[in-house]
Amino acid sequence: MNEIDEIKKILGIPQNVVIVSHRNPDGDAIGSSLALKLFLEKNGHLVNIILPSEFPKTFNFLKSSDTTVIYDLDHEKSQALIDGSSLIFFLDFNSYDRIDKLGELIQKSDVTKVMIDHHLHPEPIVDYVFSNTEASSTCEMIYDFIADLGEEAKIDTYIGECIFTGMITDTGCFKYATNPNTYKVAASLKMKGVDDYHLNDQIFNTMTQKQLRLLGHVLANRMEILPELKTGIVHLTKQDYIDFTIGRGDTEGIVNHILMIDGIKVAAFIREQPTIVKLSLRSKGDISVNKIAADHFKGGGHKNAAGGAAYAKLEDIINRFKEVLPHYINV
Ligand code: 5GP
Ligand code: MN
Repeated sequence: MNEIDEIKKILGIPQNVVIVSHRNPDGDAIGSSLALKLFLEKNGHLVNIILPSEFPKTFNFLKSSDTTVIYDLDHEKSQALIDGSSLIFFLDFNSYDRIDKLGELIQKSDVTKVMIDHHLHPEPIVDYVFSNTEASSTCEMIYDFIADLGEEAKIDTYIGECIFTGMITDTGCFKYATNPNTYKVAASLKMKGVDDYHLNDQIFNTMTQKQLRLLGHVLANRMEILPELKTGIVHLTKQDYIDFTIGRGDTEGIVNHILMIDGIKVAAFIREQPTIVKLSLRSKGDISVNKIAADHFKGGGHKNAAGGAAYAKLEDIINRFKEVLPHYINV
């Protein structure tokens, strides 16, 4: 029996499902989790989503997003849900370090685990792995997963909106990381009635004044361009976080602006957080920022979009990044 047939058999009886996605959930993490939840509920399963930390308010409009359990805010409920589960899905991540403490609870559970993910190098931590590093997003994979189960007809506009959300957020509105199937899935969703204009408006035209001013500050005062390395670096200090009362999601998308400069192939966004310094890296073409993240900043991701973190001073991390960078680019 192939994997999908085995999953079909498992889903043939009502399950108590827990869906987990990564820390600092993005549109793909929340979108894929909600899409799978809504689909499985239609098939009579009991489904709960547990996320390590809160997701940006932007995604509050997605159906059932208010039912999500946040591990950081409710350890006990998370523990109870995991204890009571019979099946666990890992969506949009492929190693325990992306869900930190929540991972410790899950590792203790011996129920069947299924991973659906599009990041490089999935770790052998589950019973069934659906990994497609060519997929634009985990959301795109969720569409195919449901279709492969023979249940495409169950994808309604609510599920479709969730799937479309992850596809547009992970591809920057179909600007990168696409493949022919991405457009096939997008077309199917549009035919099913997903209003993509409205969806784009809800997701991208809902910045707060504060967020736009923060973007202005970062670009005007915190940007360094290294022309010889075709690289741009922006950073935020702890004091910036205080001065601009930066909250969760407020810095989303800033790094992508650097790649809008003609000739720039690598962008780094380095931010000083209470205990760690976090990096978001982006690149164009053959430059593998996931290698830089994995080799030097305990991170990973995709070839052109990766991230990592380090316990050190902001200044030291910026310098470390500048030092290692030449080894990864052919300028
Ligand atoms: P972002 O910069 O938007 O936070 O993340 C970009 C990509 O890098 C995402 O695909 C994300 O999964 C990955 N990523 C970000 N931070 C980390 C990290 O600390 N560890 C790993 N393994 N991947 C990361
Ligand atoms: Mn993703």
